[in-house]
Parts: sequence; C-alpha cells; structure tokens
Amino acid sequence: MLSAENLPEILGFLQSRETAMAHLLKRCVLCESPTDSKPAVDYFGCMLATEWKMRGAKVEFLPRKDAGNHLRIIWLPNPARRAGIRARAGQILVLGHLDTVYEVGTIKKMPFRVTQGRAFGPGVLDMKGGLVIAVFAVDALAHAGWLPDRRIVFLWTSDEETGSKTSRAVIEHEARRSAAVLVLEPANGPEGQLKTRRKATGTAELVISGRGAHAGLDPGAGVNAVHELALQAARLMRLNNHRRGISVNPTIAQGGTRSNVIPAEARLTIDLRAETLADMRRIERKLMALRPILPGAHLSVQGGFSRPPLERHASAALFSKARELAQGLGFSVGESLAGGGSDGNFTAALGVPTLDGLGVVGEGPHSPDEQVILSALSQRAALLAALLATL
Ligand SMILES: [Zn+2]
Repeated sequence: MLSAENLPEILGFLQSRETAMAHLLKRCVLCESPTDSKPAVDYFGCMLATEWKMRGAKVEFLPRKDAGNHLRIIWLPNPARRAGIRARAGQILVLGHLDTVYEVGTIKKMPFRVTQGRAFGPGVLDMKGGLVIAVFAVDALAHAGWLPDRRIVFLWTSDEETGSKTSRAVIEHEARRSAAVLVLEPANGPEGQLKTRRKATGTAELVISGRGAHAGLDPGAGVNAVHELALQAARLMRLNNHRRGISVNPTIAQGGTRSNVIPAEARLTIDLRAETLADMRRIERKLMALRPILPGAHLSVQGGFSRPPLERHASAALFSKARELAQGLGFSVGESLAGGGSDGNFTAALGVPTLDGLGVVGEGPHSPDEQVILSALSQRAALLAALLATL
C-alpha cells in the first residue's frame, strides 16, 4: 500500500524523469493521428503499445474497420509476486484517446517546439500529454515498488474527437466493471483545474419544408421555408438560460435555391448544452414538441443530445481524494465546469464515479497555439500515480 510518506518520493522520481517525459511527448506529437486517418491512428497506437509492452503490461488492440483500432492496456501485478496480494473488487479505468483534430501534415505548419518551458504542437495538450503521463505514472509506481491490488485498465480510443461512435460501447462495458474512472483530458486553464462537471452536449437539426413558388408572379402560393426557419430560430433562442447552464444555439442555417424563388426547403443546425440530466431531458422534450408556425409548413427534428452531463455527484468523492493527494505532493488543485463533453460523460451517466481533467496543464486545445506547461508534467503524473495507488 502506498502511504503519504511515499508521495514526495514519487514526485522526486518523476521530476528526475522530466526530460524523458518531454522526449516521449515529442515522439507522440510527431506521430500525427487525426481521427479520420485510420493508418495514422493505428501507427500511433502501435508506438504506444511498444512503450507499454516494455513495461510488462498486457496490451490488446480492439480492431475497428471504419476507425482506428482502440488500445486496451491491462496492468496487473506480475504473477510471481501477485500471490501475496489480495485482489480487490472492481477495476480502475483510465480513459484517453489516440486521435487529434489535426489533419496529417499539420506538423509542418505547427512544428513541435519547446520555448520558455512550454511545448507546442498538434495534440500536445489534447491529449498526447495525458497519454505520456500515464506511462510515467506507472514507472513511478514500479520504482516505488508498488503493485496494483486490482486490475487497472488504460483504454486509449481512436475516435473521441468525433463523438466516440465506435468506442462508446467498449467504454461503457469497461466502466460497468469499474470502481472509478479517471479521464486524462487536459486540465482546465493554466491553473490546472480538474473537471468535476461537464455539460451534456449534442447537435440537432431542424428540417423545414414549405412550398416553392415564383417570388414575383405568385408569391402568395408559396410557403417560405426560410421565413419558418427564422421564426423557429427566434423561438429556440428563448430556451437559453445562462444561469442554469442551458444553451441552445442555432449555428448553421441553410435554405433557398434562387433569389426569385420562395424557398421550399431549409435546414437549421442547433448546438445543445445543458448542465443537468433534468434540463437535458426538458430541452429534448421541447425540441420534440416543436410545431410549425406558418400555415402549410412542416418540421422534422433529427439528432439531439449525444452525451449526457457529468454531474458533480459523480465526481465529488474522487475530487476530494485528488485534492488531498495533491496537497501531500505539495501543490493544490481546483475544480471547474467544462462546457464541452468527453468520454467521462458516458461513464458518469452509468453512475460510475468519474473524475476528468486529470491530463496535462496548458492552453489552447484545438488551436494553432496548443501548448503544454512542461514543469507541470511531473506533478500531473504524480497525482495520477497517487490516485491509482490509493483508490
Ligand atoms: Zn480530448
């Protein structure tokens, strides 16, 4: 069992490995892995698999045809030494993703570089840094002579950035067998806040049909789908409630064909966010209850929320634990709400305790300035190690 006295030793070991961490981070960033390039994601997965195999972990690929393969890494005490360890019920699941939002070749415009203690490059923060600290957290625990007394599963998926279509089922399957889920998405802001709440997110589409007519000869014979779209957009805006954390925003409007034709078709894309499951359900009901305003217009609503919220009751106990461990390591961590979703939303919705934002600290995810604060790598790896050892 790891105790409070071991924490400075764990951190000290990781501080001595900072150069090695930065080096692995560079290798990970240079190995570009956009969600839509299966060969690139698979190649990156193989590179990480090698790192884990070198450390004696059991590595399995979960093959996917239309997306990169997912990677499942299982860390158990080695059988020779396991005899004396009583296995505890429930595994710990650590979630990460291999994919980034940057297409292959971005590295030429956004080369990996280190300046003033920060590393820059595509995906360096979201979330290659998180995948790097996991490797070193395990090194630190092995160095301290600690062995897991329950199964620890690291699941690196290939399609988080596009909604986890091919990974959601395996994430939920592993979560159901887990006592806790730790998510290596980046921390919030340069202060490194953990994410104890995440909004539910989704996209809906309103498909509007009217009736086409000549705008000059017979305008009264038409039903203007763009007019209906505008009326519906105004009505949808009234669902916003910033105090409650609800946002419903029409973001893409399309309609019409020619300047002199009353448009027969229009489409409205709507970005949806809500902080609580109750508000998410309420917005879903309101969307389903939308009716046309103009006589003769027709509506259909497609899509909706795709990720339920991560609410604080799912993360509170894990957050207190993390805060206490961080104090033992000599730093403090705060908490915050994230407006976007992650795979932690799925696991929290199953009632499995979930803590997110345990990855690295930096700024500018999904932007040309994406960066990681290198001096925080050892702290974040130490916090992850301490959580793995004490949960
Ligand atoms: Zn991410």
